[in-house]
Amino acid sequence: MSLVIERPQAITIGVDGVSGRFPVNTLFCVGRNYADHAIEMGSDPSREPPFFFIKPSFAVCNGVDAMTYPQFSNDVHHEVELVVALSRGGRSIRVEDAMSHVYGYCTGIDMTRRDLQAQAKQQSRPWEAGKSFYQAAPCGDIKPIEQAGPMTQGSILLTLNGKVRQSGDINQMIWKVPEIISRLSELFVLTAGDLIFTGTPAGVGPILPGDDIEATIEGLAPIKIGVSRNITKQ
Ligand code: MN
Repeated sequence: MSLVIERPQAITIGVDGVSGRFPVNTLFCVGRNYADHAIEMGSDPSREPPFFFIKPSFAVCNGVDAMTYPQFSNDVHHEVELVVALSRGGRSIRVEDAMSHVYGYCTGIDMTRRDLQAQAKQQSRPWEAGKSFYQAAPCGDIKPIEQAGPMTQGSILLTLNGKVRQSGDINQMIWKVPEIISRLSELFVLTAGDLIFTGTPAGVGPILPGDDIEATIEGLAPIKIGVSRNITKQ
């Protein structure tokens, strides 16, 4: 098949111990998948189940020293999350088959322009401006599932300038990984290369230019990233 324009280069993430890179497709994200974070965002996790939203692949940044503070916001928040990388797609995947679609895991940060998200909520508009922007999804290198194991428990931590801001355990997730894959595959068509951000524990808060962020999930490569000022910022 010939293409009428040049295909954009794939956005990729490094893989632990392997020279090849993982090509990224769509980023699916779970909202309010940890009860303590749902409460800090003003909702009741016993009444409102988690839900999904999407970020574009251009949000991914991997292997960079610093992310640029985005434009149009004065309140960008960090959300450390376990990220699932899919090796196979599908529709209506059963919970018991879901893990056979997993390539591996990485540490991720769901960066959020909280002021734009709050404005969108208030106006009953979509969240895109709050969630989707360049470098809105820093990712550590992926660890293949053969080495990482099923990742059903383990500490999840984010420190800002050396101070702990978020600390939890991935066993606190309301929807577990196989259930998330199954539910997503009913709502959407999943594709090899998709990433799933599985939600964040409590303690989200603002980042600023000059900050140093370290995000760690037990057993996975950490993210160490600085924040630089946007030079075009008004
Ligand atoms: Mn999130």
